[in-house]
Amino acid sequence: ITKTSGVNSGFGVLISSAESPGGTVLQIAQLKERREKRRKQQEELRKAKEGVDDSQWDIMQLTDRIEAFRKDCRQQVVETPDISIEGLEGNNDNMRIRVCVRKRPINETEIANNNIDILTTRTATYPNAQIHIHEPKTRLDLSRDIETHSFGFDNVFDEKASNKDLYASTVAGLVEGIFQGGKVTLFAYGQTGSGKTHTIFGSPTEPGLFHHIAKDIMLLCAQSLSDTTGPLPTLHLSFFELYGPQIYDLLNSRTRLTLLESPNPKDPIYIQNLTSVPIPTVNLAEGLEKLLALIAEGFKSRSTGSTQANSHSSRSHAVLQLTLKNPTTLRPLGKFSLIDLAGSERATDRGPTTSLTTKWESSEINKSLLSLKECIRALHQHKPTGVTARRKSGTGKHIPFRGSKLTHVLRDSFMGRGNRTVMIACVAPGMRSCECTLNTLRYAGRVKGYGGMVNSKG
Ligand code: ADP
Ligand code: MG
Repeated sequence: ITKTSGVNSGFGVLISSAESPGGTVLQIAQLKERREKRRKQQEELRKAKEGVDDSQWDIMQLTDRIEAFRKDCRQQVVETPDISIEGLEGNNDNMRIRVCVRKRPINETEIANNNIDILTTRTATYPNAQIHIHEPKTRLDLSRDIETHSFGFDNVFDEKASNKDLYASTVAGLVEGIFQGGKVTLFAYGQTGSGKTHTIFGSPTEPGLFHHIAKDIMLLCAQSLSDTTGPLPTLHLSFFELYGPQIYDLLNSRTRLTLLESPNPKDPIYIQNLTSVPIPTVNLAEGLEKLLALIAEGFKSRSTGSTQANSHSSRSHAVLQLTLKNPTTLRPLGKFSLIDLAGSERATDRGPTTSLTTKWESSEINKSLLSLKECIRALHQHKPTGVTARRKSGTGKHIPFRGSKLTHVLRDSFMGRGNRTVMIACVAPGMRSCECTLNTLRYAGRVKGYGGMVNSKG
C-alpha cells in the first residue's frame, strides 16, 4: 500500500494502485469530473428546452404574423359556444368562483431585447373573453412556425386595464357581502414579474386592489353608521407570510406563528397570536393612511427578515386580510383575503444544479399551488344546489384543504355558502415567458374545471 500521508493526499495526486487510498482519491476526482460534465450537458439541454431559440427567428416575420392574427381577431365575432358551463351562467356577482387573466404591459427591457409580445387578448366577459398565445415552434424538419393556443375565461384584462378597472369587474360587487358574514378570497397567480404584487398592492403611481376594497368597506361602514342605530362592525387588518409550512406575522417583526384547530365549529381554525390591527373607518383619509403605513411596515419586515431579500417575495405567499368584527365580542363576521402567491415558475424543478434549499422551496410551492387548485376545483364541482345540499353546505363536502398550509390556513374562506373565490392569473407578454405563460393559462383553466382551452391551431 502506497503511503500518501505526509506527501499530498489531496485531489490530483496520481497513484497507480486502485486499491490504495490515493486510488480512491483519484476515482473520486474522476467521478466528480464526470458529474460536473453531466450537469453541464443537462443544464445546456434545459436551457435549450426552456427558452425559445429566438436567434433563429426573423423577429419582423414573427411580428407580422401575430399582427395579421390580431387584425383577423378584431374582425371576428365570437359565437357563444353551444355548451353550458356551470358557474359561468347567470349574474356575475353570483359566481362562486371567478377566474380571470391579466396581461401586463410590455416593458422597456423586453422591447430592447426583441422579447416580443406574443399575447392577443379579447377583453369582455365569457365566452368573448379570450386570450391567444402565439408560441414560436421549430418543427421536426427544422422549419419554423407559430402555434396559437386560445383560452377562454370569465374575464380577460389587457395591458390597458388599470387596477381600478379590475376592481370594478371582479370584486367590487362582492364587498357588500362581507357585511352579511361572507368571505371573499382573491388570489394573484403567475410567474415572478407577471404583475401579481402590482395587482394586489399597487405601485407608487397606482393603488392596488386592496386600496379599492378597503375604501369601499369604509364607505359602507360610514353609510351604515347613518342608516342604523346598532353598533358598527369594526375593521381589522392582518398581514402574514407563508413560507413552506411556516407562518410569519408581517405586522409583528416577522414573528413565527402557529396554526391551531379549535373544537368550536364556528371558528375551527385560527392562527394563534396573529396581529390584528383596528383600522379607523369613520374618517376615510385617516383609515387609508393607517392601512398604507401598516402594509409598508409589513413589506419592510418581509424583506429584512430573510437572508436573500430580493427574491424572497417570489418564494413565499403573502396574505392580507381585512376582517369585519363584532365590536363587543370581537368575533370575526365577514372577511376579505388577498393572496399574493409565490412565483409559479418555482413550482417546476430547475434541474440538477438546484440547491437543496431551492429544491425544498420548489416542492413546497408546487404542493401548495396544486392543493390550491384542487380545493377550488372541489368547491366548484360540489356547488350546492337544493335543500339537501344547502343543509350539507359547509360540512358535508370534502374539500382537501389539508393538502398544504396555504389551503389549511384559508379553510374557513373555502367553506360556507356565502363565500366567493376570485383568481387573477397574471401573465407577462414576452416571447421568452411563453412556457411559463402557457403553464399559467392551463393552471387557471383547470381551476375552473373546464380546461380553459378553446382551441389550439398552427
Ligand atoms: P410579480 O409580483 O408577479 O413578481 P410585479 O407586480 O412586481 O410582479 O410586476 C413586475 C413589474 O412590472 C413591476 O415593475 C410592476 O410595476 C410592473 N407591472 C406589472 N403589472 C403592471 C401593469 N398592469 N401596469 C404597469 N406596470 C406593471
Ligand atoms: Mg411580487
